Amino acid sequence: MLELIGVTKKYGEVAAVQSCTLTVNTGEFVTLLGPSGSGKSTLLSLIAGFTPLTEGTMLLDGRDISRVSAAERGIGVVFQNYALFPHMTIFENVAYGLHRRRWTTDRIRQRVEEMLELIGLPQIAKRRPDQLSGGQQQRVALARALAFQPSLLLMDEPLGALDREIRDQMQQEIRRIHREARPSVVYVTHNREEAFALSDRVAILESGQVRAYDTAHTLYTRP
Ligand code: ADP
Ligand code: ADP
Repeated sequence: MLELIGVTKKYGEVAAVQSCTLTVNTGEFVTLLGPSGSGKSTLLSLIAGFTPLTEGTMLLDGRDISRVSAAERGIGVVFQNYALFPHMTIFENVAYGLHRRRWTTDRIRQRVEEMLELIGLPQIAKRRPDQLSGGQQQRVALARALAFQPSLLLMDEPLGALDREIRDQMQQEIRRIHREARPSVVYVTHNREEAFALSDRVAILESGQVRAYDTAHTLYTRP
């Protein structure tokens, strides 16, 4: 479970994120939805630990992560600007975080196989990223982010660069993978349909503030 309490990020006088209070329950899929400049990426980056907080507290499974380094938060990330390592094979990409966590070779091999099964691409371990389509690469990025079984997965517009048709297919994939692996998820998009298709709850951001936070159904049918 993730709890954000009064989370604020200021750049000079300007608050990119202002007093955000938000709870993501264990296993819940939450989307941050809002127009460009509303603070979605900044909030995700604060949770990931890539950007330092100005004010507030963040608890992950009861532990205060507000001042813990990104690597020590144990959070899985799929960010647009954090692509696969191009010089590594798919196997090595998915295994990367497991080596860093000092898993044994046997356990790593077994886990990478499981992850490639989970994303529906069991035959690609020896390929390199440039031999895969955009959609396949994003699935591998998901496998890499989930390999070490993080309790929280962050995704920043992961489908932003994909064609419409592949996007729809990838939405189904993300839903299935979420059902099977069950991490809590915070997902960023400016696409309302995508938010409503994927999420248990949607947080609507405007000028760095949470304007509404509820199920897609409630937000959609409210007068
Ligand atoms: P979104 O992801 O919703 O498009 P951002 O989180 O990228 O929004 O940006 C929110 C606000 O914070 C914007 O006004 C943006 O210009 C500002 N901002 C984001 N990053 C920085 C930065 N590194 N320095 C100064 N201002 C920033
Ligand atoms: P680990 O899996 O060991 O927790 P990662 O492989 O996810 O760590 O990331 C290693 C480091 O790379 C992180 O601690 C972080 O500082 C940096 N990093 C990862 N993703 C990004 C990103 N999107 N933007 C900036 N830095 C990043």
